[in-house]
Amino acid sequence: MSKIREYRERHELSQEELARRLGLDRSSVAKWESGRNKPRLNHLVSMTKIFGCTIDELVKGGDNMAVSKSVNCPHCGRKLNSYTVDTTSTQRTSGTCPSCGKRYTVEYGKGKIKVSKN
Ligand SMILES: [Zn+2]
Repeated sequence: MSKIREYRERHELSQEELARRLGLDRSSVAKWESGRNKPRLNHLVSMTKIFGCTIDELVKGGDNMAVSKSVNCPHCGRKLNSYTVDTTSTQRTSGTCPSCGKRYTVEYGKGKIKVSKN
């Protein structure tokens, strides 16, 4: 279930009512909620004002499923940190393995995680 629907129901708004406030027709809201379409940024911003939430709260957990994945050191194989991998942005971070003291780089996002020797 999309977050938009969750927020809309929490505010006791019908699809028609939300659409009207955004200057759209009901089918636009229905498409967002079914995942057939995504709202434009200006509509997201308007919804944050209606719902009193952030864009992050609106889009996360809907079709952007974030999962926590752990990685192992590419040098010694010991378990390192867990990273939150979502389906949108890719991030990159590097660190030093607490077990062997060697450096590694982790690239994560878009549902994937990759660790490499630095
Ligand atoms: Zn290591």
